[in-house]
Amino acid sequence: MKLLVLPGDGIGPEITGATLAVLAAANKRFGLELSVERREIGLASLAKEGTTLPAGTLERARELDGVILGPLDQLRYPPADKGGVNPSALFRVKLDLYANVRPARSRAGLGRAMDLVIMRECTEGFYSDRNLHQGSGEFMPVPGVAMSMRKITAHACERIARRAFELSRKRKKLVTAVHKANVFRVTDGLYLDTVRAVAREFPDVKLEEEIVDAMAAKLVRQPAHYDVVLATNMYGDILSDLASELSGSLGLAGSILAGDSVCAAQAQHGSAPDIAGQDRANPTSLILSAAMLLEWIGERKKVDRLVKAGRAIDAAVDKVLAKPESRTADLGGRLGTRAFGEAVAEAL
Ligand code: NAD
Repeated sequence: MKLLVLPGDGIGPEITGATLAVLAAANKRFGLELSVERREIGLASLAKEGTTLPAGTLERARELDGVILGPLDQLRYPPADKGGVNPSALFRVKLDLYANVRPARSRAGLGRAMDLVIMRECTEGFYSDRNLHQGSGEFMPVPGVAMSMRKITAHACERIARRAFELSRKRKKLVTAVHKANVFRVTDGLYLDTVRAVAREFPDVKLEEEIVDAMAAKLVRQPAHYDVVLATNMYGDILSDLASELSGSLGLAGSILAGDSVCAAQAQHGSAPDIAGQDRANPTSLILSAAMLLEWIGERKKVDRLVKAGRAIDAAVDKVLAKPESRTADLGGRLGTRAFGEAVAEAL
């Protein structure tokens, strides 16, 4: 099995290093025949090749078995015509990685008691940079007036809803569909109608509907209530940071970007430029993302040892986090990024 590894910006190279140490241990224990191909994207490739996403990267992602995608510092990128394209958006749109799966579960006594998964659509919605075939969905018709276009399609709603119900069927059998159809009657109305139609195919799974602002409050009030939370792009992005922080820390939040044939592991958090290069970042999020990637590949290809390796990594993370002294600084511990990766590899 060969993975494409793209360390990205800021803390990306450090958390990727720790993740690769854990994958090497999983490879040894489960005989995964794992190899990696490392490529530069982001500010590193911008300096060398004039673009944040060098030609051939997306094609390579299609050819290999999976991708480890580091965080990207898009805020510091120049405009697209000067090489600053958003690799995250291009991965999602060009490889059709429509399902951003973001679990938030209490670990090792940290955070609130909860175990939910946010199923976030990520190829359209409020993220206007992915809504048009050509040009940007964000524009300024006259000075002082800026506009942004949101796109919702029945196709995208239907497939993300189906993934949510399929997942919930294996869990607590409750899908909470988040919307704002009281205001966005046409777009969120289409989303809700589509979700309700998919729900009829899953009579054993309960569907409940929540308006997004109330959902934010209820998530804080009763996080243990939720199972699979289904959301369009931006609602899912915001609620997943809230959920993962409630479950202990944003630094603990694994996530995958899954299509029908390609999957990328990508931490929920960003490139954390404020702590980059200091061996202070918590690599748990990317380690857990990599574990989810192994499970995803294992389930698709029916390779049991990959599924087992993913679950074993998840358990090893819990074991290490259980000891306060073996946590990273964001959780009040003393371990650096590299040492934490080594501890998880050792536990594995
Ligand atoms: P951020 O997630 O990078 O950081 C927010 C805060 O959390 C910071 O204080 C940071 O130090 C801390 N933090 C984040 N990850 C951590 C970790 N693993 N361990 C310990 N602490 C951690 O968000 P931001 O500062 O708003 O954004 C920085 C850059 O990241 C921006 O350019 C933004 O566009 C980008 N971003 C990228 C992605 C992505 O590539 N998937 C996601 C979100 C933000």
